[in-house]
Amino acid sequence: MQVCYPTFGMTDTHAHLDRLEAPDEALERARDLRAVLTLGTDAASSAAALGFAESWSNVYAGVGLHPTEAGTFSEEVADRLRALAAHPRVRASGETGIDYYWDAATPADQLRVLAFQLELALERDLVMVFHVRSKEGSDAAERDLEAWLREHEPPRFVLHAFGGDLRLAETGLELGGYVSFAGNLTYKKNAHLREAAAALPADRLLVETDSPYLPPVPKRGRKNEPAFVRYTLEVLAEARGVPFEEMERVTDANAARLFRW
Ligand SMILES: [Zn+2]
Repeated sequence: MQVCYPTFGMTDTHAHLDRLEAPDEALERARDLRAVLTLGTDAASSAAALGFAESWSNVYAGVGLHPTEAGTFSEEVADRLRALAAHPRVRASGETGIDYYWDAATPADQLRVLAFQLELALERDLVMVFHVRSKEGSDAAERDLEAWLREHEPPRFVLHAFGGDLRLAETGLELGGYVSFAGNLTYKKNAHLREAAAALPADRLLVETDSPYLPPVPKRGRKNEPAFVRYTLEVLAEARGVPFEEMERVTDANAARLFRW
């Protein structure tokens, strides 16, 4: 076990450490982060996520089947994810959600996996981590996730890598959920995200990297990693007009409360 002693906070609530070229080196550079949640996208990567959580004291895992993988769902996959979810370092059911961008799985298969991930969340008292993505110019996935949330009311959940759909954010907040901002918050063209970030309630905000994806400014063009969460946090603080240290304290406390670490 690599024991870390964070001198300050900062929490990366969404990473895919198994997709980094040198994850342990990236975690060396993230030793001062209070926590990193690494999410699985299928049974193998969920097992890998748990491996990182067993090796690093500031890493926790989520187990799940990404909506683009929903076509591979089977009883065997469910059993493997269920077995992993019994581990105390697992704090999330996901990454799950609805994806119509890639046409990788049918809506029916995606709903079936959502039902399984909810069952897992309830069985193990886990936080559901939702991905949502529509085709360009459509909001079908957002509307379907919104309807699903209203129908099922998961007790603890995050809308990850918030993409600007205010109606979904409002529904999420109304149902007690959290909204997480990723590196795209820092992109010049995304003023609407910074406006949304300024208006949402402070006690429901989280930050993440979605490593190795969505690298923030000034790290665009290279692979993202947990330590870069600082740049998104800086822009979030600036958008809300509060000092960096305050934003760090608030998002850290939110994550600790939600994920119970
Ligand atoms: Zn992800």
